[in-house]
Amino acid sequence: MELQQKLAILADAAKYDASCASSGAQRRDSRDGKGVGSTGGAGICHSYAPDGRCISLLKVLLTNRCLYDCHYCINRRSSNVRRAAFTPEEVVRLTLDFYKRNYIEGLFLSSGIVRSADHTMEQVVAVARTLREEHDFRGYIHLKTIPEASPELIELAARYADRISINLELPSQKSLDRLAPEKNLDRTKHAMGRIRLKLEDAADRKKNGDRRLRHATGQSTQVIVGADESTDADFLARSEELYGSYRLRRVYYSAFSPIPEPSAILPARPAPLLREHRLYQADWLMRFYGFHRSEILDPAKPHLDLHLDPKLAWALRNRALFPLDLRTATREQLLRVPGLGPRNVDRILALRRLAPIRLADLSRLRVPLDKVRPFLITTDHRPPATELESDRLLARFAPRPEQLELFC
Ligand code: SF4
Repeated sequence: MELQQKLAILADAAKYDASCASSGAQRRDSRDGKGVGSTGGAGICHSYAPDGRCISLLKVLLTNRCLYDCHYCINRRSSNVRRAAFTPEEVVRLTLDFYKRNYIEGLFLSSGIVRSADHTMEQVVAVARTLREEHDFRGYIHLKTIPEASPELIELAARYADRISINLELPSQKSLDRLAPEKNLDRTKHAMGRIRLKLEDAADRKKNGDRRLRHATGQSTQVIVGADESTDADFLARSEELYGSYRLRRVYYSAFSPIPEPSAILPARPAPLLREHRLYQADWLMRFYGFHRSEILDPAKPHLDLHLDPKLAWALRNRALFPLDLRTATREQLLRVPGLGPRNVDRILALRRLAPIRLADLSRLRVPLDKVRPFLITTDHRPPATELESDRLLARFAPRPEQLELFC
């Protein structure tokens, strides 16, 4: 099979993996003869480097053949799709070619499992090792690892990659038993635990002056939302454990979408993208805003409210804590105000040391005044007591009613 044909098959097969953090860029290309350039192309996706830069990656599978039969995956053993496999040398060549032409700044490499987890992992590591050692490749490399592979191979992968990940896919063993019978939650967590220790060891060595050491700086995972009956509470509980016990950099939530060659036990409809978005918002509240999972979810409901962002929903449930006086509120309190993010909170704290803060100052900081006004007291503004006490507040933020479709 021609290399280009393999690329078309194996790049397409890789597109279902969200754990390299697509930037969500709008798709544009010049195939109609208008303009120059493209945001996509076979195998090219966008991601964020550890320093926050948006980078383009060659995103491919080494092979879409697989011994496993995960129901949600187009590459599963029982799926009737066209199969292909790169050799490690072919992936190296493609990466270097694309890199030299300035199409990409790095590689995201995953693979179906062929022969055994170790055999597959050896091939994945061979690509990264050849790029780093034989070609002195300094671009970004993200490798997907296999929890069943030997710890030595996963450690080798971490030495050549900038980021490594293991997909958890579903938050409970019960769901895995049903949809991914060969996968085991405890095995995945053990592998994550070992990676965590290696990452911390490498970070210590770098801090102690080992400047030549090359090692991944973080690990991440992906979960599929809406393929089974797991609730948002289940997902957030698992994420909290992964951030706390395994120090994951990111948990990526990927809304389930029916694939070609679907398995009969999967839902026929895609999960709402808004559910994925709300989970990301809740995840950020846990990581950057000091919220505990139990505060984010309404105790009476296992799912996040699709109509309100989770921070606003929390503020509406806790109206008694507002309004906050901008002159005296702590950083922790300000982070809980709907419409204020960590950057603006820090700017407000710096500003208030110099002078009393007015609404116009917040406006200059691009704080959304409509959103924060009911929750804050400034020198020139105090919300009327009735505003927070009444259901008018909820009405103010609730989405406008829309004409429902008659047929769907
Ligand atoms: S192991 Fe990975 S590639 Fe294989 S079927 Fe499962 S999700 Fe798909």
